[in-house]
Order: sequence, then C-alpha cells, then structure tokens
Amino acid sequence: MSHCNVVYKISCEDCNASYVGQTKRKLQTRVKEHRNDINKKFGSPSVISTHRLESGHEFRWGHVVILDEESSYKRRLVSEMVNIKRQVKPLNLQSDTQFLSEEYLTVLVSLTSALGCDLLFSYFVLSTT
Ligand SMILES: [Zn+2]
Repeated sequence: MSHCNVVYKISCEDCNASYVGQTKRKLQTRVKEHRNDINKKFGSPSVISTHRLESGHEFRWGHVVILDEESSYKRRLVSEMVNIKRQVKPLNLQSDTQFLSEEYLTVLVSLTSALGCDLLFSYFVLSTT
C-alpha cells in the first residue's frame, strides 16, 4: 500500500461495481481520500461516495488492487483508461477516458484482452506516448 505511481482498482464488496484510478502519490493516501470523501461537507460527492450512499454498499478498502506501476504520467493515464474500460461495471465517469478516442481505446482493450498479453499492452502504451 506504500506504492507510488500506480494504477489501482477499488471494488465494491456487494456488487460488480469498481473504480479505476491512478496516482503519483502513495496509494494509501489516495485510498484514504476516496474513503473519507463521503464525510466532506462541501462539493458534490465522488462517484464512489454516490455508490455507497445510493446502494448502501461498502468497498473493499483493505483490498485495493494495483493494476500497474508506471512512473511516466502519460503512460499511467493510458494504462488507467484501458483498465477503466476493462471493468465489468465501471463507476468511472466518461470524462476519465476522454484523453483517448473511443475507437482507439476499444481496439486497444479488445486486442490486449483477446491476447491476454501484458507485453503487447505495454507496447501499445509505449507507442501512444
Ligand atoms: Zn456496489
């Protein structure tokens, strides 16, 4: 949990919903922010808080999965977007993947998923940065 520069996934304990994010800071710090977002008094709640409030579900805070470790910000963003698209029931907003075109991202996700090859995935991520 003390990792930096990671792409992570927080999953709901009670359904298929999940959230993928990236941070250059310590994962632990970012996860704490996600968890405490529900207590803030101002501003609109995050997508995670909204899911907790609307469904009464809780997230697996102790089992946040690290999907990728990447020190380059751009590559981390691409990795984040591909992993957002790979989710069964993403809580992420559409704006989280705007950096890449929908068509390109769809091809990227289907190719990397079909071949199940992380090396190929790395190649695509590298070629886009
Ligand atoms: Zn849920």
